[in-house]
Amino acid sequence: MASVTYNHVTKRFGEVVAVSDLTLEVADKEFLVFVGPSGCGKSTSLRMLAGLEEISDGEILIGDRVVNDVPPKDRDIAMVFQSYALYPHMTCYDNMAFGLRLRKVPKEEIDKRVKDAAGILGIENLLDRKPKQLSGGQRQRVAVGRAIVRDPNVFLMDEPLSNLDAKLRVQARSEISKLHQKLGTTFIYVTHDQVEAMTMGTRIAVMKDGFLKQVDSPQTLYDLPGNIFVAGFIGSPSMNFFDAALIEDNGRMYADCKDFRVEIPENRRPVFKPYVGKEVVMGVRPEHVHDPEYQPPGIQPALVEAKVDVLELMGHEITTYFTTERTSFVGRFDPRTKVMVGMTKTTAFDMSRVHLFDKQTELAIR
Ligand code: ATP
Repeated sequence: MASVTYNHVTKRFGEVVAVSDLTLEVADKEFLVFVGPSGCGKSTSLRMLAGLEEISDGEILIGDRVVNDVPPKDRDIAMVFQSYALYPHMTCYDNMAFGLRLRKVPKEEIDKRVKDAAGILGIENLLDRKPKQLSGGQRQRVAVGRAIVRDPNVFLMDEPLSNLDAKLRVQARSEISKLHQKLGTTFIYVTHDQVEAMTMGTRIAVMKDGFLKQVDSPQTLYDLPGNIFVAGFIGSPSMNFFDAALIEDNGRMYADCKDFRVEIPENRRPVFKPYVGKEVVMGVRPEHVHDPEYQPPGIQPALVEAKVDVLELMGHEITTYFTTERTSFVGRFDPRTKVMVGMTKTTAFDMSRVHLFDKQTELAIR
């Protein structure tokens, strides 16, 4: 078991800066997820830790040891790739045993470890088969099994579920979470899928354009995103954003979004006060846009009228897309709500949950 430290790590591929000055500590036994859009540098961050890419600047430590110059095989890590990279001509047993044989682990020990791992993953009956005789989900488990038998200090996984269909992915997600609990080892996991990140990570590192934008627990990222990018990336449908001017009128504070004006609750005014008279970006999550008839108790509603543009009936809710003259937004409505495309509807923004961001720096105002 081991912690992992990135200390001002940069990776350049010629002109391209894939990872920029990454500083991050992953605690022993933690499940850290790197998440972000394609090309943000998450795979490169993992591959440098695995020793598959050289580090341009900075240091990576596993435990107390700087591993910049340690060959991959001596780093005591195991990696599961998106492609699984199983040897097609070998049985599952041999695929799992292969690395241990290379290390000259005694035969009985190999047998025990392969069977133990197969037991944990429920693939005992597949050990004699070759990869092409397996389904995608079974292959994924064999690939994980091959990592488990190594008993590594750190598990690395790069999009291991992306080849699975949606249903299997949900199941495999919870299997990997359980595996993490069972093994009690540090896991570092890469995905572009924010739902995967939210459901699996004990902490999530959100990256964009090679930069770490925020690292926090899933709930903190959701409740207190530090900037517009994280606010928009975490949550589905995405947070609604409105360009607004923060104004004071008769001792009250408002976000003036041109088409409508919403009042800032009293308890939140002191924090926002320095921005009065300035342009800000207001963020409201779709789940905080309600039909006033069905709004939950205890919210601080501000009424906003808008035209219903599109409805998506989800069963448990109606995702409702609205437009006003200059903007558009989404609400997640109670399924009992009566809305029709084309009608004008009054919605209730829960202002106790509203986010304001500095328009220039894009940072949350707190
Ligand atoms: P994806 O989800 O698409 O895999 P990612 O977030 O994992 O994306 P990386 O694969 O880490 O992103 O790539 C980060 C940046 O570095 C990208 O701009 C990519 O084009 C660039 N890059 C990655 N590998 C190389 C390479 N071997 N040579 C040149 N550029 C590279």
